[in-house]
Amino acid sequence: MAAPKKPQASNPTRSRAEKKSRSQSPGLSKFGKLAEYNRRRRFDVTPEPAPRAGRARSEALEFVIQKHRASSLHYDFRLEHDGVMLSWAVPKGPSLDPANKRFAMQTEDHPIEYNQFEGVIPEGEYGGGTVMIWDRGTWEPEVDDVDRALAKGDLKFTLHGQKLRGSWVLVRMRQRQWLLIKHRDKAASTIDIIAAKPRSAVSRRTLAGIAQSAGASPRQLAQAKEADASTPDPST
Ligand code: MN
Repeated sequence: MAAPKKPQASNPTRSRAEKKSRSQSPGLSKFGKLAEYNRRRRFDVTPEPAPRAGRARSEALEFVIQKHRASSLHYDFRLEHDGVMLSWAVPKGPSLDPANKRFAMQTEDHPIEYNQFEGVIPEGEYGGGTVMIWDRGTWEPEVDDVDRALAKGDLKFTLHGQKLRGSWVLVRMRQRQWLLIKHRDKAASTIDIIAAKPRSAVSRRTLAGIAQSAGASPRQLAQAKEADASTPDPST
Protein backbone atom coordinates (compact mmCIF):
# COMPACT_ATOMS: atom_id res chain seq x y z
CA MET A 1 0.00 0.00 0.00
CA ALA A 2 1.59 3.27 -1.13
CA ALA A 3 1.80 6.17 1.31
CA PRO A 4 -0.14 9.23 0.14
CA LYS A 5 2.05 11.76 -1.63
CA LYS A 6 2.42 14.99 0.23
CA PRO A 7 2.46 18.24 -1.70
CA GLN A 8 6.05 19.40 -2.23
CA ALA A 9 6.95 22.22 0.10
CA SER A 10 9.21 23.53 -2.64
CA ASN A 11 6.21 24.08 -4.91
CA PRO A 12 4.82 27.46 -3.78
CA THR A 13 1.67 27.28 -5.95
CA ARG A 14 0.64 23.95 -4.50
CA SER A 15 1.27 24.78 -0.87
CA ARG A 16 -0.65 28.05 -1.22
CA ALA A 17 -3.54 26.18 -2.80
CA GLU A 18 -3.44 23.66 0.01
CA LYS A 19 -3.55 26.31 2.72
CA LYS A 20 -6.40 28.10 0.99
CA SER A 21 -8.57 25.04 0.44
CA ARG A 22 -7.85 23.66 3.92
CA SER A 23 -9.13 26.82 5.52
CA GLN A 24 -12.26 26.58 3.39
CA SER A 25 -13.03 22.89 3.94
CA PRO A 26 -10.56 20.25 5.06
CA GLY A 27 -12.74 17.40 3.84
CA LEU A 28 -13.38 18.61 0.31
CA SER A 29 -9.88 19.80 -0.50
CA LYS A 30 -8.00 18.07 -3.28
CA PHE A 31 -4.92 18.28 -1.03
CA GLY A 32 -6.56 17.90 2.37
CA LYS A 33 -6.95 14.98 4.72
CA LEU A 34 -9.60 13.23 2.64
CA ALA A 35 -7.77 13.52 -0.70
CA GLU A 36 -6.91 9.81 -0.74
CA TYR A 37 -10.46 8.81 0.25
CA ASN A 38 -11.86 10.95 -2.58
CA ARG A 39 -9.31 9.79 -5.14
CA ARG A 40 -10.12 6.11 -4.58
CA ARG A 41 -13.88 6.43 -5.06
CA ARG A 42 -16.41 7.23 -7.81
CA PHE A 43 -19.31 8.80 -5.94
CA ASP A 44 -21.66 8.37 -8.88
CA VAL A 45 -21.16 4.58 -8.58
CA THR A 46 -20.52 3.72 -4.92
CA PRO A 47 -23.22 4.28 -2.27
CA GLU A 48 -20.46 5.37 0.16
CA PRO A 49 -20.80 9.02 1.28
CA ALA A 50 -18.87 11.87 -0.30
CA PRO A 51 -17.47 14.22 2.35
CA ARG A 52 -19.66 17.21 3.14
CA ALA A 53 -18.52 20.58 4.42
CA GLY A 54 -19.51 22.15 7.69
CA ARG A 55 -20.56 19.29 9.90
CA ALA A 56 -21.84 20.50 13.25
CA ARG A 57 -19.49 19.34 16.01
CA SER A 58 -20.98 17.10 18.64
CA GLU A 59 -19.56 17.12 22.14
CA ALA A 60 -18.14 13.62 22.10
CA LEU A 61 -15.73 12.04 19.64
CA GLU A 62 -17.24 9.21 17.62
CA PHE A 63 -15.78 5.82 16.92
CA VAL A 64 -17.05 3.07 14.62
CA ILE A 65 -15.96 -0.42 13.64
CA GLN A 66 -17.17 -1.66 10.27
CA LYS A 67 -17.09 -5.37 9.47
CA HIS A 68 -16.17 -5.45 5.79
CA ARG A 69 -16.12 -8.42 3.45
CA ALA A 70 -13.99 -6.94 0.64
CA SER A 71 -11.29 -9.12 -0.96
CA SER A 72 -11.12 -10.65 2.52
CA LEU A 73 -13.03 -10.19 5.79
CA HIS A 74 -11.61 -7.49 8.07
CA TYR A 75 -12.75 -4.92 10.65
CA ASP A 76 -12.27 -1.22 9.89
CA PHE A 77 -11.53 0.59 13.15
CA ARG A 78 -12.15 4.35 12.97
CA LEU A 79 -11.56 7.12 15.53
CA GLU A 80 -12.79 10.68 15.04
CA HIS A 81 -9.93 13.17 15.18
CA ASP A 82 -9.67 16.69 13.82
CA GLY A 83 -12.72 16.46 11.55
CA VAL A 84 -12.04 13.05 9.99
CA MET A 85 -12.10 9.39 10.97
CA LEU A 86 -8.58 8.00 11.44
CA SER A 87 -8.82 4.45 10.06
CA TRP A 88 -7.13 1.09 10.51
CA ALA A 89 -8.02 -2.24 8.87
CA VAL A 90 -7.83 -5.05 11.47
CA PRO A 91 -7.83 -8.44 9.69
CA LYS A 92 -8.69 -10.54 12.78
CA GLY A 93 -10.83 -7.87 14.43
CA PRO A 94 -10.36 -6.51 17.95
CA SER A 95 -9.80 -8.82 20.94
CA LEU A 96 -10.91 -8.20 24.53
CA ASP A 97 -7.96 -10.31 25.71
CA PRO A 98 -4.88 -8.18 26.56
CA ALA A 99 -2.71 -11.14 25.54
CA ASN A 100 -3.85 -10.75 21.92
CA LYS A 101 -2.09 -8.09 19.87
CA ARG A 102 -4.15 -7.48 16.76
CA PHE A 103 -2.44 -6.29 13.59
CA ALA A 104 -3.95 -3.01 12.34
CA MET A 105 -3.00 -1.51 8.98
CA GLN A 106 -3.59 2.23 8.87
CA THR A 107 -5.68 3.20 5.84
CA GLU A 108 -6.85 6.51 4.42
CA ASP A 109 -8.79 8.93 6.63
CA HIS A 110 -12.54 8.65 6.10
CA PRO A 111 -15.25 11.33 6.38
CA ILE A 112 -17.29 11.35 9.59
CA GLU A 113 -20.41 10.66 7.49
CA TYR A 114 -18.94 7.20 6.79
CA ASN A 115 -19.90 6.14 10.32
CA GLN A 116 -23.52 5.81 9.13
CA PHE A 117 -22.64 3.61 6.16
CA GLU A 118 -23.93 0.04 6.14
CA GLY A 119 -24.48 -1.47 2.72
CA VAL A 120 -22.78 -2.83 -0.38
CA ILE A 121 -19.90 -1.29 -2.34
CA PRO A 122 -20.41 -2.40 -5.97
CA GLU A 123 -18.27 -5.00 -7.75
CA GLY A 124 -15.13 -3.51 -9.25
CA GLU A 125 -15.12 -0.44 -6.99
CA TYR A 126 -12.45 0.18 -4.34
CA GLY A 127 -13.30 -2.01 -1.32
CA GLY A 128 -16.14 -3.69 -3.22
CA GLY A 129 -18.24 -5.89 -0.90
CA THR A 130 -20.57 -5.79 2.09
CA VAL A 131 -20.10 -3.37 5.01
CA MET A 132 -21.70 -3.77 8.46
CA ILE A 133 -21.62 -1.27 11.34
CA TRP A 134 -20.31 -3.82 13.84
CA ASP A 135 -19.84 -1.43 16.78
CA ARG A 136 -20.13 2.27 17.43
CA GLY A 137 -20.01 4.76 20.24
CA THR A 138 -17.73 7.47 21.56
CA TRP A 139 -14.06 7.54 22.50
CA GLU A 140 -11.77 9.58 24.73
CA PRO A 141 -8.03 9.98 24.35
CA GLU A 142 -6.06 9.09 27.49
CA VAL A 143 -3.38 11.55 26.41
CA ASP A 144 -3.34 15.36 26.30
CA ASP A 145 -2.14 15.62 22.71
CA VAL A 146 -3.50 13.11 20.17
CA ASP A 147 -1.31 14.41 17.33
CA ARG A 148 1.82 13.96 19.45
CA ALA A 149 0.68 10.44 20.49
CA LEU A 150 0.09 9.51 16.83
CA ALA A 151 3.49 10.90 15.84
CA LYS A 152 5.07 8.89 18.66
CA GLY A 153 3.13 5.81 17.57
CA ASP A 154 1.54 5.18 20.98
CA LEU A 155 -2.11 6.25 21.36
CA LYS A 156 -3.93 5.25 24.55
CA PHE A 157 -7.69 5.72 24.61
CA THR A 158 -10.99 4.65 26.16
CA LEU A 159 -13.91 3.27 24.12
CA HIS A 160 -17.57 3.64 25.06
CA GLY A 161 -19.18 1.31 22.52
CA GLN A 162 -21.94 -1.26 22.50
CA LYS A 163 -19.43 -4.11 22.25
CA LEU A 164 -16.04 -2.58 23.04
CA ARG A 165 -15.38 -0.66 26.25
CA GLY A 166 -12.56 0.32 28.52
CA SER A 167 -8.94 1.15 27.86
CA TRP A 168 -7.05 0.28 24.65
CA VAL A 169 -3.82 1.19 22.91
CA LEU A 170 -2.68 1.49 19.31
CA VAL A 171 1.09 1.01 19.01
CA ARG A 172 2.93 1.61 15.75
CA MET A 173 5.48 -0.97 14.63
CA ARG A 174 6.54 0.67 11.36
CA GLN A 175 5.05 3.11 8.84
CA ARG A 176 1.35 2.25 8.58
CA GLN A 177 1.56 -1.00 10.58
CA TRP A 178 0.13 -0.82 14.10
CA LEU A 179 -1.04 -3.20 16.83
CA LEU A 180 -4.42 -2.81 18.58
CA ILE A 181 -4.26 -4.09 22.15
CA LYS A 182 -6.76 -4.18 25.02
CA HIS A 183 -5.45 -2.92 28.36
CA ARG A 184 -6.12 -4.85 31.55
CA ASP A 185 -9.28 -3.45 33.18
CA LYS A 186 -12.86 -4.45 34.00
CA ALA A 187 -13.74 -4.65 30.30
CA ALA A 188 -10.91 -7.08 29.52
CA SER A 189 -12.09 -10.64 28.91
CA THR A 190 -11.22 -13.92 27.24
CA ILE A 191 -14.63 -13.90 25.51
CA ASP A 192 -14.16 -14.02 21.74
CA ILE A 193 -16.22 -10.90 20.98
CA ILE A 194 -15.95 -11.37 17.21
CA ALA A 195 -17.64 -14.78 17.55
CA ALA A 196 -19.97 -13.84 20.41
CA LYS A 197 -21.41 -10.69 18.76
CA PRO A 198 -21.30 -11.13 14.98
CA ARG A 199 -24.28 -8.93 14.06
CA SER A 200 -24.76 -5.25 13.20
CA ALA A 201 -24.85 -2.86 16.16
CA VAL A 202 -27.49 -0.75 14.42
CA SER A 203 -29.69 -3.17 12.42
CA ARG A 204 -28.94 -6.57 14.04
CA ARG A 205 -28.48 -7.88 10.51
CA THR A 206 -25.86 -10.40 9.40
CA LEU A 207 -23.54 -9.60 6.49
CA ALA A 208 -25.77 -11.75 4.25
CA GLY A 209 -28.85 -9.87 5.47
CA ILE A 210 -27.22 -6.57 4.53
CA ALA A 211 -25.98 -7.96 1.20
CA GLN A 212 -29.45 -9.22 0.32
CA SER A 213 -31.24 -5.94 0.99
CA ALA A 214 -28.56 -3.68 -0.48
CA GLY A 215 -28.32 -5.18 -3.95
CA ALA A 216 -25.19 -7.33 -3.69
CA SER A 217 -24.14 -9.38 -6.69
CA PRO A 218 -24.58 -13.18 -6.39
CA ARG A 219 -20.81 -13.48 -5.79
CA GLN A 220 -20.89 -10.79 -3.07
CA LEU A 221 -23.87 -12.48 -1.41
CA ALA A 222 -22.04 -15.82 -1.41
CA GLN A 223 -18.97 -14.13 0.14
CA ALA A 224 -21.14 -12.46 2.81
CA LYS A 225 -22.69 -15.83 3.69
CA GLU A 226 -19.23 -17.41 3.86
CA ALA A 227 -18.05 -14.62 6.20
CA ASP A 228 -21.14 -15.09 8.40
CA ALA A 229 -20.37 -18.81 8.59
CA SER A 230 -16.86 -17.98 9.87
CA THR A 231 -18.48 -16.08 12.78
CA PRO A 232 -21.78 -17.95 13.36
CA ASP A 233 -24.31 -16.24 15.62
CA PRO A 234 -24.32 -18.15 18.96
CA SER A 235 -27.79 -16.77 19.79
CA THR A 236 -29.47 -18.50 16.84
MN1 MN B 1 -12.37 -2.01 4.66
